[in-house]
Amino acid sequence: MAYQALYRQWRPRDFSQMVGQEAIVETLRHQVQTGRIAHAYLFCGSRGTGKTSAAKILARAVNCMHPQDGNPCGKCETCQRMQAEDYMDILEFDAASNSSVEDARELLERVSFPPQFGAYKVYIIDEVHMLSNSAFNALLKTLEEPPEYLVFILATTEPYKLPATILSRCQRFDFGRIPAAQIQGRLREAVLGARGEASDGALMTIARAAEGGMRDALSILDMCLGYGRKIDEKLVRDVLGTSDRAFLFRFSSALRSENAAELIRLVDELMSRGKDPLVFSRDVSSHLRTLILAKCCGESIAETLDLTAEDAAEYIRESESFTTSRMMDMLDLFMHLETELRYSGSPRIALENTSLKCCLRTKETDTLALNDRIAELEAEIKLLEDRVKNIPAQGPLQEKEQTESGKTAASSPAAASRKPREKSTAVKKPESMTPLGRSTDEVWKEALKILQKTEPSIHGMFLMGLFAGSDGKEYRWKANPGFEIIASSLNSGERKPKIEEALTAASGTECTFTALDASQDQQKVEEASDEKYLEELYDTFGHEPVDVVDEIPQK
Ligand SMILES: [Zn+2]
Repeated sequence: MAYQALYRQWRPRDFSQMVGQEAIVETLRHQVQTGRIAHAYLFCGSRGTGKTSAAKILARAVNCMHPQDGNPCGKCETCQRMQAEDYMDILEFDAASNSSVEDARELLERVSFPPQFGAYKVYIIDEVHMLSNSAFNALLKTLEEPPEYLVFILATTEPYKLPATILSRCQRFDFGRIPAAQIQGRLREAVLGARGEASDGALMTIARAAEGGMRDALSILDMCLGYGRKIDEKLVRDVLGTSDRAFLFRFSSALRSENAAELIRLVDELMSRGKDPLVFSRDVSSHLRTLILAKCCGESIAETLDLTAEDAAEYIRESESFTTSRMMDMLDLFMHLETELRYSGSPRIALENTSLKCCLRTKETDTLALNDRIAELEAEIKLLEDRVKNIPAQGPLQEKEQTESGKTAASSPAAASRKPREKSTAVKKPESMTPLGRSTDEVWKEALKILQKTEPSIHGMFLMGLFAGSDGKEYRWKANPGFEIIASSLNSGERKPKIEEALTAASGTECTFTALDASQDQQKVEEASDEKYLEELYDTFGHEPVDVVDEIPQK
């Protein structure tokens, strides 16, 4: 006997064998039981959701002489006849392959002949949206005044393409996608029927890939059984050409950390395994969608997406490190890639390019991402400010800053009170004055002026940091964070003597120079501020020991 495809073997023979669509099945059965049959039905829904199966069962049920619970009995004379393929009163017509007016006219010409055996003459028109306009007009004419015995069952995946005049004359049923768990159940029966073995994971992978369509699910299972009786997840993935979840998690983790090198490496791994970039980009889209849902819905995705609790937890964990808007942007990019790949001559380049685009975070709009960006920008501004502060030290700007600070001192009492104190410290510390009568600050500025003329390249390097103080002999400078290399370059044998020469000339006494990077400097700054704090204490309390007593509360 010739092999019959699984989806034919498992096509439901009555309503009780249908998987999913419980509400629709219930309504149709009730109509058969009560004899309230409509003249036109419209079954809508995506492929493989049971529209044609339901239509065929309904066509037999309305003609059965003794229907059982709304199902055809399978025993009566009409049922026996109907089981033979060439039953005259059920006419099936595929509009996708016969869309011309002639075909439709020929079909509808037979409408005027009453049924030969049963009570109804049933027309099943598949993909009815494919009919031409004239064919629709012919159909409409019949639907306006249908003979008593006539039933039309129109099935379509695209109901919005039907004229409103047709829609308004039909009783409409929308067939939803069948839940993966229900598909998995039917697949298990089919595997056992075929004397095969399959893991739960393998059957669930097939069920998910079928996206709610039973026919697709059975066809995939059929293909898998072609490779052997034992089916595991790996075999299913090979048949489908899809990527495994672990790989997708590695990929999304690289996207999250914006690790461009890792992404390119993963694409390379994918290509060397002979995977199709288009299939992969669909997998990434679906993975990102799951992550977005995990972020938005939390644990309830286990139910929505037919996931196990552990799988759901894994998605939720991964989604936590992404912002929703970032994932949505990435999903946009990958969905766009799917379209692009259909026409692209270089699919690998397109895939790499999209992966890298995901690392560019320029379009983000949600608060978390904006906060990130603001923090980054603030850090940059701080860096620029530090540099600008250092610039007045080298020229005419210096005087301008001084007059400006003088103005501020006069206008702000806080600054006014601070100013004289700094002066008094300077007076009290003659050791900080150099033989030429300059303060260490002034020596530094003067040395920079000298270097600006003699060694402009060294002078330029000082813009990447700040003067960090001096004890009158050693002059210290600190590099801004990220410019540690400048510090080590200034400390190098060639530049250091030139800087020390300039400092010596500016101060009138032998000077040394040390460049610090940000981390070293922290210590020195702390030491310096300790010293300063001590000086302030001496200013206030003098050098003699002071008794500290608890304040007595006043009554
Ligand atoms: Zn019957």
